[in-house]
Amino acid sequence: MIRIVPREEYCIGCRLCEIHCIVQHSKSKNIIKAFKRERRPVKRVEVEEHGHVSFALQCRHCEEAPCITACLSGAMQRDRASGAVVHDPERCVGCWTCILVCPYGAIRRDGEERRVVGKCDLCPDLEVPACVANCPNEALVLVEE
Ligand code: SF4
Ligand code: SF4
Repeated sequence: MIRIVPREEYCIGCRLCEIHCIVQHSKSKNIIKAFKRERRPVKRVEVEEHGHVSFALQCRHCEEAPCITACLSGAMQRDRASGAVVHDPERCVGCWTCILVCPYGAIRRDGEERRVVGKCDLCPDLEVPACVANCPNEALVLVEE
């Protein structure tokens, strides 16, 4: 199982991870179009800051994932191949139960077109997730457990 682990001691709070996450999950995968011309996808990583400390927060892909247990419609599931916790927007009914039970606050509302949620999917089309690949200070690392 692969996880993205934040290293707060290296995070400089630049939020490039947020930007690259949005571009990677956009229709065009083009930064200008993603931010100015298209519906902007929900952020799947969010930088938390307190004073001089910052770190990027995203799904931990929990072994015993409360979001899967709590999901009423089966939209939140574990991908058998990768072990990642994935979300199917087609099945999501927008009840926000997963948001309530996630202990990390890693799920966000995506209410632009209809009420669904968005969360980290480990960028299945990429060898290295966009946030990890584009962090200038290696404050996000991939670990295999
Ligand atoms: S969304 Fe939250 S509860 Fe679900 S696997 Fe990720 S961190 Fe765990
Ligand atoms: S792995 Fe991909 S989806 Fe997850 S936070 Fe990073 S860029 Fe976003």
